[in-house]
Amino acid sequence: MKYYSTRDTSVRISAAEAVKMGLSRDGGLLTPEAIPQIDEAFINSLVDARYQERTAKVMALYLTDYSEEELLAFAENAYGPDKFDTSAVAPVRKVDETTHCLELWHGPTSAFKDMALQMLPQLLSAALRKTGEDKTVCILVATSGDTGKAAMEGFADVPQTKIMVFYPKDGVSAVQEAQMVTQEGENVGVCAVVGNFDDAQSGVKRIFSDVEIRKTLLDRGYVLSSANSINWGRILPQVVYYISAYCDLMKSGDITYGQKVNFCVPTGNFGDILAAYYAKRMGLPVGKLICASNCNDVLTDFLRKGVYDRNRTFHTTMSPSMDILISSNLERLLFDLSGENDVEVKGYMDQLSKEGCYEVSDAIKAALKERYWGGYCGEEDTAKTIAAYNTKYGYLIDTHTAVAVNVMEQYRAETGDETTTVFVSTASPYKFCNHVLSAIGEEPKADGVELLDQLHEVSGVTVPRRLAALKGKNRRFDLTAEKQDMEKVVLDFLK
Ligand SMILES: *Cc1c(COP(=O)(O)O)cnc(C)c1O
Repeated sequence: MKYYSTRDTSVRISAAEAVKMGLSRDGGLLTPEAIPQIDEAFINSLVDARYQERTAKVMALYLTDYSEEELLAFAENAYGPDKFDTSAVAPVRKVDETTHCLELWHGPTSAFKDMALQMLPQLLSAALRKTGEDKTVCILVATSGDTGKAAMEGFADVPQTKIMVFYPKDGVSAVQEAQMVTQEGENVGVCAVVGNFDDAQSGVKRIFSDVEIRKTLLDRGYVLSSANSINWGRILPQVVYYISAYCDLMKSGDITYGQKVNFCVPTGNFGDILAAYYAKRMGLPVGKLICASNCNDVLTDFLRKGVYDRNRTFHTTMSPSMDILISSNLERLLFDLSGENDVEVKGYMDQLSKEGCYEVSDAIKAALKERYWGGYCGEEDTAKTIAAYNTKYGYLIDTHTAVAVNVMEQYRAETGDETTTVFVSTASPYKFCNHVLSAIGEEPKADGVELLDQLHEVSGVTVPRRLAALKGKNRRFDLTAEKQDMEKVVLDFLK
């Protein structure tokens, strides 16, 4: 199977090249030229399989230049007991008769980004071998909080790679920052950017498309790549857990094959919910995809009206990993819904970069309505939802997950849809201790990582091992840069 660009379908490259490049040279996103189809027999074959086996079987459908054995070996490394605190890897927790939670934070950094970022470095290392690459790949990451840590954890000391992470200076939680600035590994770098996530992401995109910088770096022996969800190697491992959740619901007897399931996903860059869309397109019986935003509600408006307008106030919220106004992966959805019309997609993206706004065709509007429902949840309701879930189910959820739960409830109230629904839980509550404590009526007594103990005392929930270990760790990085100076940071890092 070949991959092509959402902005130019005449580009055809292998999966290994797509993983290595991250982003197409024309600025488009690399996307499979066809979407493999799965059927009842395929799903049945996965029901009794372990998560690692499900991963290899699903990914092999797309990565035809990797063997299934190779992918299985990667999955065993990525999701083994030294990395994940449950052998289920991505367990589905039953909340009530028609509501389930897909828990994606059992990995080393306690956020769902591990699901993809434990796989990506292995896919990339293999891609370097397969394409005979002799340069060192430097991964540039813009993070809204969770990607940076998960990417460094995945890439630390991986041969022939370096990784530089940019995060918004005052836009991440204390635990998230502590996780990043204490990262170990000889090949990692971390820098705070004065600005918000969109500033960091724009800076990284700017460096990627800067011909001069690329040439300078090439002379020094480096090529750039991305670990953001614009890289296909990020999206694909995420498709797996939607299929896996469906299998788990069959296994537990909660559904039988063919029954539709809705997924509700707390959304930022649109990567996670795009993976759910690919699962649906592959033939998994999925009903509505419910897109949950915080008060950065650009996607809610888009899904309701077909107009994407980023010209609005950026809000810093208690769910920082969703504080995003430019959701990059929407481009892949538009590409698919437009019948793979690269000219149309390029037109929208040009308008977005020039005017910050575009309106999709009537055909796309209709397609969006049929498949998606969008809603958002403000700060106060996020806190109330955490408290309500804790009281009603004794289940402590994080701030991002709470946004999903609230929007799922809005959806049910508005539509009366009683379809079995799985909401996606993307982070451990321990990553956002201060807000979670306040939400359940406890005054945070300290700040930073000290709050882990307090949350443990009041909730009784075990602190993830790696977060507990943060308390004894030294800060290794202390670099801050203005957003226009990100180029210089990269050039210094790759001396
Ligand atoms: C990244 C992230 C999200 C948003 O996921 P996207 O794929 O960017 O839409 C939601 N919750 C948490 C905890 C995250 O880290």
